[in-house]
Amino acid sequence: MSGGKVVVVGAGVVGMSTALFLRRAGRDVTVIDPFAPAGGCSYGNAGMISANNAAPIAMPGMVARVPGWLMDPMGPLIVRQRYLLKVMPWLARWIRAGRIDRVLQISDAMRALNRNSHELWRELVGAERYAELIRRNGQVHLAATDDMPARNADAERRIRERHGLEVVQLGQDDIRRMFPGIAPDITRGIIVPGNGYTTNPRRLVGSIGEAFVAEGGQMVSERVLKLVPRERGMLVLTNTSNYVVDDVVVAAGVWSKDLIKGFGVRVPLEAERGYHAMLPNPNIDLQYTLTLRSRGFGMTPMESGLRVAGTVEFTNRESPPDERRAQQFVPKAKRLFPSLIHGEPKLWMGMRPSLPDSLPVVGRLPRIPCVHLAFGSSHFGMTAGPATARLVADGVLEIKSAIDVAPYHLDRFR
Ligand SMILES: Cc1cc2nc3c(=O)[nH]c(=O)nc-3n(C[C@H](O)[C@H](O)[C@H](O)COP(=O)(O)OP(=O)(O)OC[C@H]3O[C@@H](n4cnc5c(N)ncnc54)[C@H](O)[C@@H]3O)c2cc1C
Repeated sequence: MSGGKVVVVGAGVVGMSTALFLRRAGRDVTVIDPFAPAGGCSYGNAGMISANNAAPIAMPGMVARVPGWLMDPMGPLIVRQRYLLKVMPWLARWIRAGRIDRVLQISDAMRALNRNSHELWRELVGAERYAELIRRNGQVHLAATDDMPARNADAERRIRERHGLEVVQLGQDDIRRMFPGIAPDITRGIIVPGNGYTTNPRRLVGSIGEAFVAEGGQMVSERVLKLVPRERGMLVLTNTSNYVVDDVVVAAGVWSKDLIKGFGVRVPLEAERGYHAMLPNPNIDLQYTLTLRSRGFGMTPMESGLRVAGTVEFTNRESPPDERRAQQFVPKAKRLFPSLIHGEPKLWMGMRPSLPDSLPVVGRLPRIPCVHLAFGSSHFGMTAGPATARLVADGVLEIKSAIDVAPYHLDRFR
């Protein structure tokens, strides 16, 4: 059994969940982040909790679509020109991850993390907060009459069959009943039962923080600058303090790479940018979260309005957001709901911590086993984050996990 003091770097969904699991197991846990919980990517996501999704982002048939996407400056995927060479090796791995044999393996690992997502959220934040902030009424995927059939439909069917996942076809009448005022060209759809969404990702992750502090955990607002191995344990240097600890959990999202690069570890972690437009005071009352894949966005009814989110952008981590990518969601939302009226949109950009195979990295750092890796939830942190955290916490506690950790090891990228 390793010692008692743990620092968790990062107060996103993964770091906060790990910290709470460790605290509940009796560890002396400090979370370090310059921001309050959900100050990074966990703040502005679409909030979808997709327990019954096991399909990765890279899928068969997608490669053929990439050139078309890249030609469209407002399309669902963009690589800023000067970044293309840099991101090439990552994209090459992404393409390899999209072969059907690998996709099916990845889907097993995704299923393992996602399937109990709702139960884990309830465990983390308690039944009352869960009922207040999470709806589990299915997720709707819509298509327009003239949308081409999805190229990866066959792979999606195989994944569903492999895991016994149910979808229900929606007829035109269902769609109009569920979404009054929706545009007439939206004629096809499915609902995935068992999935759902949170009405406020920031408050949801903040609720883990509240529970953590109430149960004796410590939060400090500092930035970790360096991890220095000691004969036993680790010295964690921040902008203002030093912490001597037995274990460190690196859950710093896209910034995780910076903290471990001094240890000679290479990890293909990219900052996959996404955007949202928050539309306050909408005159429509959505009961379901929806996605319209052909137009590259999803819509989630949240406490402070309608959140329209999506797109992927690869560029330097430090370059400023391209607000047009968020702004484009406003006319897209109006095209979907022609009579939509709302207040002044608020725009946001976030960076998904993404590995090419849609799976996170979990496990100890080779040669420095007191460093535990906990990042890379890509598009799925609000879904897979709690189970990822459980797996990380089990590793720190040296207890056997209900999920096999092997598919998430860093050595898959050797
Ligand atoms: C547009 C968009 C929509 C999305 N929609 C969904 C969705 O519907 N469903 C879903 O499941 N997922 C979704 N995601 C993905 C999800 O948001 C992420 O996977 C998740 O938030 C990642 O959580 P994290 O804890 O790993 O990272 P983060 O939330 O980014 O947290 C990392 C934290 O580390 C801190 N940190 C960094 N460096 C340091 C340092 N040196 N010292 C101290 N602290 C540090 C940061 O301040 C930050 O708070 C979406 C993402 C985007 C961008």
